[in-house]
Amino acid sequence: MGDHTVDDYDAIVVGAGFSGLYMLHRLRQLGLRCRVYEAGSGVGGAWYWNRYPGARCDSESYFYCYSFSEELLQEWTWSQRFPEQQEILRYLDHVADRFDLRPDIQLDTKVTAAIYDGGSRRWTVETSRGDRVTARYVVTAIGGLSAANVPDIPGLDDFEGRWYHTGQWPHEGVDLEGLRVGVIGTGSTGTQLIPVVAEQAGHLVVFQRTPNFSMPARNRPLDEATVAEIKATYDEIWRRAKSSPGAMPLPGPSIAFDEVDEDEARRRYEAAWENGGVLVLQQFNDLMTNPASNEFAAEFFRDKIATIVRDPETARKLMPTTYPIAAKRPVLDTNYYETFNRSNVELVDVRATPISAITPRGIRVGDAEYELDVIIFATGFDAVTGAFAAIDIRGRDGVELVDKWRDGPTAYLGLAVAGFPNLFTINGPCNPALLTNVPVSIEHDVEWISDCIAYVEAEHVEAIEPTEEAEHAWVRHVGDAVAGTLYLDADSWWMGANIEGKPRRFMLYVGGHDDFRRRCAEVAEQGYAGFAMTVPNRTA
Ligand SMILES: Cc1cc2nc3c(=O)[nH]c(=O)nc-3n(C[C@H](O)[C@H](O)[C@H](O)COP(=O)(O)OP(=O)(O)OC[C@H]3O[C@@H](n4cnc5c(N)ncnc54)[C@H](O)[C@@H]3O)c2cc1C
Repeated sequence: MGDHTVDDYDAIVVGAGFSGLYMLHRLRQLGLRCRVYEAGSGVGGAWYWNRYPGARCDSESYFYCYSFSEELLQEWTWSQRFPEQQEILRYLDHVADRFDLRPDIQLDTKVTAAIYDGGSRRWTVETSRGDRVTARYVVTAIGGLSAANVPDIPGLDDFEGRWYHTGQWPHEGVDLEGLRVGVIGTGSTGTQLIPVVAEQAGHLVVFQRTPNFSMPARNRPLDEATVAEIKATYDEIWRRAKSSPGAMPLPGPSIAFDEVDEDEARRRYEAAWENGGVLVLQQFNDLMTNPASNEFAAEFFRDKIATIVRDPETARKLMPTTYPIAAKRPVLDTNYYETFNRSNVELVDVRATPISAITPRGIRVGDAEYELDVIIFATGFDAVTGAFAAIDIRGRDGVELVDKWRDGPTAYLGLAVAGFPNLFTINGPCNPALLTNVPVSIEHDVEWISDCIAYVEAEHVEAIEPTEEAEHAWVRHVGDAVAGTLYLDADSWWMGANIEGKPRRFMLYVGGHDDFRRRCAEVAEQGYAGFAMTVPNRTA
């Protein structure tokens, strides 16, 4: 490889996280010649990059994994209810070895361009290492949360201390012992990071623009009996996960808020809070459609904050009041609110008075300068579309994907894009993944894509792409599904609102994993309805 050689493959896969590893495995089973390019120096995707203190999963371990191999399920044992980054990375490394995937994965290689040639009906893929290869199919496995977002704050280049983004954390770790540390951002990452950093730092200043609703994880080790029970019931676990809206094998809410009185509603929330985990917000089926139901839950959370945080002014600052609960990604924590009772932790509300600059010595907010040795950006990602925008993707007739998506991303089922033949997008925009337990969504998409490729290979189809009509209809359906829900009432990354200048459009499908799976199956059963196929001497 390398240095301007031209090689030809059946398929190029971009990315080697959960998606890319499984995609490679499936495509190889079809007998295709594949190459996977991965920007990182190892496999694992999100779990390779996000090594910040406190990084862990908030899906439960027993369903945050692959289901496709019974042997893998039986031989791998998770140690905790919510595993840490290191353990998930070990798992994905094990998968790469277990299925002998590494020979087809090229690390330290960023795909910079993918250009379609309508004449040869092949893609030319270029990389940061000078590779120039051609392939019939390109599959993006680039992750919806992989393009780190460092906000453009004046003065960062002059800062005399060190700064880090949580999604690009140094592998050797960062010694924060006794230092003055500033954390910008209190989303999912900040909420995991802040309690751990508070234990190491001499002084920690948390710069908060929008407080988040967070609920206790209640993490614990998994004992032998629990592990044995999980391993004995995996068939049932996956059956339930695949037939649930959230792609989780957990009981969804079956009643509406109005069906119980307030005492009963409170009792339910209280019991769920004690148990911890994502079920806290799965009590009523109208949480995102009934403002009264939503406000009751939000008030329950605010009461909890008031009970945990001793200083009333700090508690008030930590209480979200400007958007519905769960209209931003819900967060699980371990001692997040308790951390603000520590004497070395200070909370600064940068909504009231924004950060005006980073100075050589720290961060300026209004008239105050906070002197810092280290700044940590827990500012998340240019979600869903950011990793696409970093690649020069050009489809039929030279159309650029960034141009097509200028007013917001469009895609058919979140799996393919009109005008971009033989390009498949795992968990692309307009797909339910990222509102779900993602590995189950990934397995679905990978299996659907590999079945589709098997079909077009068998039918001697040279090019397949969604019709404009099918794509429009799907995008309209995605819009209809979210219309009238409370998801639209928050400035979330699901809406593109965390990135300056990004179009405001809800980028995901809220119809649920179960509904989506059914629709995708119907499309396939109907001979890939909504797709146009080019067959030599015939166009269908
Ligand atoms: C901190 C964190 C916690 C999370 N916790 C949960 C959770 O609890 N539950 C859940 O369901 N989901 C969670 N997620 C979402 C997570 O993204 C998915 O669960 C899953 O890891 C996605 O896998 P993926 O392979 O699709 O993408 P990723 O894991 O993001 O992998 C994409 C890979 O593509 C590579 N890549 C991107 N562009 C290029 C390019 N141009 N060239 C070459 N390589 C490229 C990247 O380097 C990356 O390694 C979390 C995400 C983060 C960041």
